[in-house]
Amino acid sequence: MRGGSNTVGVVPKQIRDLLRAKTEDGRFRLAEVDPASTPGLKSPKQEKKDLAKHKVKLFGLQEQLYAEHKRALLIVLQGMDTSGKDGTITHVIGDLNPQAVQITPFKQPTAEEKRHSFLWRIRRRLPEAGEVGIFNRSHYEDVLVVRVHGLAPLNVIERRYDLINGFEKQVTSQRTKIVKICLHISYDEQRKRLIERLKDPDKQWKFSEHDIDERAYWDDYQSAYSIAITRCSTRWAPWYVVPADDKDYRNWAVSRILIETLKEMNPQYPHPRLDVPRLLKRLQA
Ligand code: AMP
Ligand code: MG
Repeated sequence: MRGGSNTVGVVPKQIRDLLRAKTEDGRFRLAEVDPASTPGLKSPKQEKKDLAKHKVKLFGLQEQLYAEHKRALLIVLQGMDTSGKDGTITHVIGDLNPQAVQITPFKQPTAEEKRHSFLWRIRRRLPEAGEVGIFNRSHYEDVLVVRVHGLAPLNVIERRYDLINGFEKQVTSQRTKIVKICLHISYDEQRKRLIERLKDPDKQWKFSEHDIDERAYWDDYQSAYSIAITRCSTRWAPWYVVPADDKDYRNWAVSRILIETLKEMNPQYPHPRLDVPRLLKRLQA
């Protein structure tokens, strides 16, 4: 007897191994990842059950990271418009203790930001010891939208991949773990989500006609993502590509990646030396 079809006793495969961008021949191609696939998921039922458990686990691990107060976790979220960056922050990050979370959306650089190197605004928002930092878009925009629209000369963009790798290595050496997640949706799913936004009066505020213009550059974006992920998937800061057409799967997979990462970091509660009997006596006096 092997315990029937149950998973009891079977060590589940790490989701990170399934979703880590594969670059075996030296090149990663986003087009080869099916946005509707659900790697590692046994059934949709499992998704719902696990999500509740994931919340509790993530919250506990984050508390340990905060209590330990030595290391930080930085989550870089990238993806096309409507890929679910905001939704992931609401549904996955929203379950963490907000006291130790720092969320930063990166928009078009301001006049001041433009006067500095592209990493300047990024450095200013790195998480402190004990914190979880989330970048909603990031320094990768400077090799994505900037590449697609030729907003900087190509030789400048070409140098940025190495600059990014060096920067991320430096951040890692300062005790910050970096996890980079690309939410991958299909062209048709984006259309569906933009139509939903347009038809729902409460979602129209999120709609921008610019998003329709950007759809004309879909293939260029896919190619810019493939190049960035190929060149910036490093040992110290890996890229994970999460199929994101299914929102529940997306939340399930992202929370799994975070749980696995935090478990590996294995943060420890500090154990200060306290003379507990004496302190109790004082309190009871
Ligand atoms: P959203 O995330 O929908 O609020 O949109 C933010 C916009 O800012 C997106 O269109 C990004 O491509 C754009 N953006 C972010 N960073 C940069 C950057 N470094 N250069 C140019 N555009 C950027
Ligand atoms: Mg947008």
